[in-house]
Amino acid sequence: MTMPNWILITGGSRGIGAATVLSCAAAGWDVAINYAQDGAAAEALADRVRALGRRAITLHADVADEAQVAAMFERLDAQSGRLAGLVNNAGIVAPAVRLEAMTTERWRRLFDVNVLGTLRCCQLAARRMSTARGGAGGAIVNVSSRAAEFGSAGIYVDYAATKGAVDTLTKGLARELIGEGIRVNGVRPGIIETDIHAASGLDAGAAASSIPIQRLGRAEEVAEAIVWLLGDAASYTVGALLDVSGGR
Ligand code: NAP
Repeated sequence: MTMPNWILITGGSRGIGAATVLSCAAAGWDVAINYAQDGAAAEALADRVRALGRRAITLHADVADEAQVAAMFERLDAQSGRLAGLVNNAGIVAPAVRLEAMTTERWRRLFDVNVLGTLRCCQLAARRMSTARGGAGGAIVNVSSRAAEFGSAGIYVDYAATKGAVDTLTKGLARELIGEGIRVNGVRPGIIETDIHAASGLDAGAAASSIPIQRLGRAEEVAEAIVWLLGDAASYTVGALLDVSGGR
């Protein structure tokens, strides 16, 4: 029997993360599903992975909490098999407002979750996957946003700035880690139909006519891009930022 290869997906309980969990399982990986609050959704998803014949575990951790993230990786270490990939998908937005209405507390939380959470998970995954440390290599996919390029003026420039930081660290880490057998890439979704828009108060559907393809994206369409970047089919793709945005 071959040893299982785990993919860890942060924010895997809902939305793009949940679709990625199912696509990874369908592609033959065992899946570690991180969540922050919705344990019931994570458990229900894990059952769906098991129904596909793969192993699944659910791991609670706020990615902004260093101790919780460390404990999450240690729980994964206790499973048989190795970590083959990480998807840094956990991310938050905040209510749509202009700069003058933003608070320091809001900025800290956005950067703690979207940037520091991604950095910490990259660090702990790289320690396990790096061939320089006895690992077998692997892949990291960071979920950014087209907002990193557009800047989200009048809506959430702070959120857009967190995704700009994610893009920059994706580029840098890709070059830093490729010599240790770890490929790092990013995906930049456009407007995807998930629950995230409720947190900003924006009517995402109203934007459909401004997207060249004339519709919002589905979480599964982003998941397919992530799974491709994780797999051997993307063996020469390093430091890419793949837009999944219907032409936007
Ligand atoms: P979503 O439907 O709101 O789901 C967010 C997921 O992240 C949930 O599983 C949630 O867990 C988890 N999460 C939130 N905060 C967390 C934290 N501190 N620690 C660990 N997990 C946390 O969001 P989504 O639309 O799928 O977005 C996923 C990613 O895509 C984000 O990085 C987002 O910025 C990016 N993105 C989304 C869009 C879009 O239009 N939807 C566009 C561009 C980029 P719980 O279930 O436990 O709450």
